[in-house]
Amino acid sequence: MNNKLYGNLIFELSKAERKGYSLPQNPYQHTTSELPAALCRQQEAQLPECDEMTVVRHYTNLSHNNFGVNDGFYPLGSCTMKYNPIINEEIAAMKMFTGLHPLQPAETCQHALELYFRLQESLAELTGLSEFTLNPCAGAHGELTGLMVVRAYHESRGDHQRTKVIIPDSAHGTNPASAAVCGLEIVEVKSLADGTVDFDDLKRLVDLEGPNIAAMMMTNPNTLGIFEHAIPEITKLIHDVGGLMYYDGANLNPMLGACRPGDMGFDVMHINLHKTFSTPHGGGGPGSGPVGVRAGLEPFLPTPRVVFRDDMFRVETGDYEQSLGSIGAFFGNFGVMVKAYVYILSLGREQMKMVGPLATLNANYIKESLKDVYELPIEGLCKHEFVFDGLKDKSTGVTTMDVAKRLLDYGYHAPTIYFPLLFHESLMIEPTENESKDTIDGFIQVMRQIAEEAKNDPELVKTAPHTTPIGRVDDVLAAKHPVVTYKQMINDAN
Ligand SMILES: *Cc1c(COP(=O)(O)O)cnc(C)c1O
Repeated sequence: MNNKLYGNLIFELSKAERKGYSLPQNPYQHTTSELPAALCRQQEAQLPECDEMTVVRHYTNLSHNNFGVNDGFYPLGSCTMKYNPIINEEIAAMKMFTGLHPLQPAETCQHALELYFRLQESLAELTGLSEFTLNPCAGAHGELTGLMVVRAYHESRGDHQRTKVIIPDSAHGTNPASAAVCGLEIVEVKSLADGTVDFDDLKRLVDLEGPNIAAMMMTNPNTLGIFEHAIPEITKLIHDVGGLMYYDGANLNPMLGACRPGDMGFDVMHINLHKTFSTPHGGGGPGSGPVGVRAGLEPFLPTPRVVFRDDMFRVETGDYEQSLGSIGAFFGNFGVMVKAYVYILSLGREQMKMVGPLATLNANYIKESLKDVYELPIEGLCKHEFVFDGLKDKSTGVTTMDVAKRLLDYGYHAPTIYFPLLFHESLMIEPTENESKDTIDGFIQVMRQIAEEAKNDPELVKTAPHTTPIGRVDDVLAAKHPVVTYKQMINDAN
């Protein structure tokens, strides 16, 4: 790439009067003069002026400075960045879906309502729950909606004192945040060394808080990728004192085809379609966090609902006395739902059963192949992801950060690093279910190579990356003093 020619910033390429477009004369020129002067620009906008090829090359080159799932293996643990089939994007971009208006009459968009309805049903079948709402727009939004359902249920029974939610200390930060936004009080239960719930501590809390417990939130597999084996005992304990069980199903892929939250005794759950069902989730959105409930809790779900009645798919908002009502604009992020539904259909029932077992197999294969050179703090079978605590040989001074940077030189995205906080040098690896054995073997080989380099030439690893367009950035400065506009950059230079 020729950085000088194409520039780091489009502003640096600007030449006065150079244009990359031609527009017809504007017949409405007079309209600007009819706008209140206070709303009009006093100066011309300072926009870069470039010809078409310069613009195209500039942005294409910029895109090469990034690394995405379509560039190489991307084993990011915790926030699954997995299979995003191109067919999903193509179908979601079809005019029949993008050209819709949320207020158009139901009879003119039966295809979209049918997709919406069938996705609700598919999620219910996959999770063993009774009914789903697709309205929430993210995982955290789903948590809030689910907890509001829990509250509404207890309120409907006159159980007003149930305001406490038990949450494991290893939970994703959104769990306590959602509970707090919902006006509930958080009671933290401890985890054992492997991240699973400390049952004795839970018993103590239940004895203490019994009649005040609204729900317990659980993530399974937990944030360390370990299956919670005590779920039957835990659900019984909570149900016996009248609480409900909430399942954080943000990363549901290891469960698909293996077991269902509904069968395990959970009452309410959310799923992140943008993690488990294929929408990429870089840049903060869009997302979708459908909420499912067991039989008996359906009346509390939000509206609008999409139902099939009298031979037609319909949008309903009225006649639901106990409903939470609207929890967002219209129906949620429809494009994400199209992708999720295409993903589910293109796998089908048989292949869907392979998702969980393959995700689990791939993770365990990497774990076992590397544990002689990387520190494995938790032995035993993991689910879709696992954590190393840095290199086994701590004498080299090579850190998890160094390993992550060196991986970039070999064309691999780094795993999640320094999370979870349980260990100092966490390296959280999730290969996902869709990678071939060749790809995974290549990764294992490179991870071993880096361990070897750490021993023989630690400087090489500590100064990585060496082959990327941008070397090691100052993370702290970038966070404390982000330069996000061209103006700021010029001001900073002066
Ligand atoms: C990602 C995630 C969430 C939150 O999802 P958002 O869509 O980012 O709000 C909740 N719980 C777990 C376990 C997650 O991984």
